[in-house]
Amino acid sequence: MTELEQLFSLLEEGTSPFHVVLHTARQLEKQGFRELSFGQSWKLSPGGKYYVNHHGSTLFAFTLPQVKEKMGNIRIAAAHTDFPCIRIKPNPDVKNAAYAQVNVEMYGGAILNTWLDRPLSVAGRVAVKSDRVFEPDIRFVDIKKPVFTIPNLAIHMNKDVNKGVELNKQVDMIPLFGMAEENVAEEKQFLSYLAKELKVKAEDILEFELYIYCAEKPLFVGGEEEFISSPRLDNLTSVQALVAALLEAEPRNGINVIALFDHEEIGSRTKQGAGSLMLNELLDKILLCLGADVLAVKEMKYDSMLLSVDVAHALHPNQMGKMDITNRPMLNRGLCIKEACSQSYVTDCEAIAVVEQICREKEIPYQKFVNRSDIPGGGTLGSIASALLPVKTVDIGLPLLAMHSARELMGKEDMKALDACVREFFQIS
Ligand SMILES: [Zn+2]
Repeated sequence: MTELEQLFSLLEEGTSPFHVVLHTARQLEKQGFRELSFGQSWKLSPGGKYYVNHHGSTLFAFTLPQVKEKMGNIRIAAAHTDFPCIRIKPNPDVKNAAYAQVNVEMYGGAILNTWLDRPLSVAGRVAVKSDRVFEPDIRFVDIKKPVFTIPNLAIHMNKDVNKGVELNKQVDMIPLFGMAEENVAEEKQFLSYLAKELKVKAEDILEFELYIYCAEKPLFVGGEEEFISSPRLDNLTSVQALVAALLEAEPRNGINVIALFDHEEIGSRTKQGAGSLMLNELLDKILLCLGADVLAVKEMKYDSMLLSVDVAHALHPNQMGKMDITNRPMLNRGLCIKEACSQSYVTDCEAIAVVEQICREKEIPYQKFVNRSDIPGGGTLGSIASALLPVKTVDIGLPLLAMHSARELMGKEDMKALDACVREFFQIS
């Protein structure tokens, strides 16, 4: 598969953080990576390739050099598996007149109006009653069919709609599931539908983490098909680049690690997020299992560098005034190095210079993104992860339009630049 075919496959399969991890684990397994778990002892071999699935929605993978004496020099690339979407609440079924709907809350900072009038489906994991109280039966589910939609209000019922409408998350974002007439209400509602899909009894479903996602497919758009329009470009483009780079990088004398964290869109400060101890714990465990003593582990960890990979904003063709006056990244002009003196993007000139030298040496196009000084902009996991693992860190990512819309827009050439940059980060000695 070409790199864009691989990206499209991840965009279609990665419909919840769990499914991003499952898809990635399958790819790694095919290439000979072995699964490890934090709760077990590890027997690591030089040249070995391993991955760890952390609570189902976060994944770490790493490769070891052939020679045990060269275990230091750790290069880490991190991205996130989650994206803004709609989460189904417990006790989901809502009946309005004869309409069956589901009660939901918003996950992360979605542009709400872009979720209206779309075909929506649902994916995630469901905990089903088991015989062992501490081990519920966990089922992964992706319905794939567009079973939900959130209809707009007709313009005739709100003549001022084009002046802008504030959408209430508890009132206006409730998806329509079907019709539920009085006498057959139960069977026609979502929980019963879910139970049928899982082939379990509705009363045996204890809890779930279900993500309503945009069920539209990725498409090439533009006169020469130079753009990609798709749901979930933030941040599956980065996940794809990291996995491809780890698989394709030529072996070097050092450890390469990818960290795919959940919960970036809600602040990262969770057990699966970049604000957890897990990355630090992972490095400790790798180095200890390779035979380093505690003092050597502390020293070797500081011989690391972290590349935080998440999307950046591109200059908007109709809103040029929203961008900085000298740093104006555009689609198809290369990856972005993201900077902010507030450290919402990690900004350390020595670390940034390393990435620039990689790009210049390998002729990889790159641009710089900085917020307009009167617009605070967003942040990402780089600063949070590097506060817990204080090593040289840089924030990069490909430029995007319509970030956090149900469909986002990128330039297809930028994927090549991002792939190349992460691959070279992993393979240059
Ligand atoms: Zn992101």
